[in-house]
Amino acid sequence: MLIVNGTLVTMGTPNRVIPGGALYVQDGRIADLGPGADLEARYGRAGEERIDARGQLVLPGIICAHTHFYGAFSRGMALPGEPAGNFPEILEKLWWRLDKALWRDDVHYSALVCLVDAIRHGTTTLIDHHASPNFIDGSLDVIADAVDEAGLRAVLCYEVTDRDGAEKARAGIDENVRFIRAASERTRVCGTFGLHASLTLSDETLEACAAAAEGLDTGFHIHVAEHEADEDDSLHKSGQRIVPRLERFGILGPKTIVAHAVHTDEAERAILYETGTWVSHQPRSNMNNGVGAAPIDRMRDEGIKLALGNDGFSNNMWAEWKAAYLLHKVANRDPRRAPGDFIAQMATQANARLAEVFFAGETIGRLVPGAVADVILVDYHPFTPLAEGNLPWHILFGFEASMVTTTIAAGRVLMRDRALLTLDEAAIAAEARAYAPTVWEAYQRHAERAVHG
Ligand SMILES: [Zn+2]
Repeated sequence: MLIVNGTLVTMGTPNRVIPGGALYVQDGRIADLGPGADLEARYGRAGEERIDARGQLVLPGIICAHTHFYGAFSRGMALPGEPAGNFPEILEKLWWRLDKALWRDDVHYSALVCLVDAIRHGTTTLIDHHASPNFIDGSLDVIADAVDEAGLRAVLCYEVTDRDGAEKARAGIDENVRFIRAASERTRVCGTFGLHASLTLSDETLEACAAAAEGLDTGFHIHVAEHEADEDDSLHKSGQRIVPRLERFGILGPKTIVAHAVHTDEAERAILYETGTWVSHQPRSNMNNGVGAAPIDRMRDEGIKLALGNDGFSNNMWAEWKAAYLLHKVANRDPRRAPGDFIAQMATQANARLAEVFFAGETIGRLVPGAVADVILVDYHPFTPLAEGNLPWHILFGFEASMVTTTIAAGRVLMRDRALLTLDEAAIAAEARAYAPTVWEAYQRHAERAVHG
């Protein structure tokens, strides 16, 4: 496949902007790129599939470092009773009731609607964190099948927690172990070991998770210090703050993702740095839950590896870029915080290196020969000069979600000129709308049971 007549933005090191460029894709990989005339001469033979970018930008597919497909049916759902007054109440009143309402078909359609959204917004790799305590065994296969059907790339895990009893904690462990092994048969989906958060994990369960993960060559994916309550609980339970507590069980390391880390202190961040643990930042979620602003500028200076996720917000990752760019300026009353090049580095290079941790041996998130052909076309025509150096600010102030017109993953066109090719968007939305009322009713029953005992 030859993509011609585009402005290539390689997101490589260094990032290059190539006007009038072309990209040649073969066997799911980028085989060659450069000036259009050169590639036409080399590959412009009859019968070669062609995409005319018509002057659009050609970028690597976008990566999301932390999301929750399972939360999709919360959209527009009524929450009974008094509004949640803090993050622990949001967990109890919303997420820990919604996850119990999900069965096989709900998990399937929750994933599909998010995957439609991802293709629409050019997000081709997603790192998901799943919970469905009444449908644990096999849940990750259901999601993986949906990802395969969509043609996207994903890293999946099941969140182990003690909050639903020992049996379900064990089932969660087993699902991670089973799926990490089973996923080796798949090419665009792999597994990691999910943990909910320190505040719902006992020492015994953490120990069991570490033991189960042994020999799997895996890291963990866990929420850390999203709210002070997580730290308070850890101190109360173990006398240690969360990060040293997790380190004691061997949970940290270069394959582990710690989501949020909003309330970690300096000593904890030193451990995150020393262990090479990834921290994913989700500013829209942090703002929505009123949990505070993670000290990302400081984390960057401390050498911590920071990635950008969306925590189940839309897969329009440029909205997440913008939230990250704005949040830290207002939270610190300092317009120098979270500069554009930092946000861009986190969302592109760092997210790509994180994806490569899971898809070992692959080059992801860069338009370079040999990289996976995850490519998007963006209908953005700048009215000021665009070059490597000022690209982050074009994205932050100029890019809109509606500008993604074509999404390609592993060399397969998933959306062309805004028409989805692998998923039937209308049919999926109709099915999801049919399932949602049942999920909402089950949620209401769990809510009433929680209130009336
Ligand atoms: Zn999360």
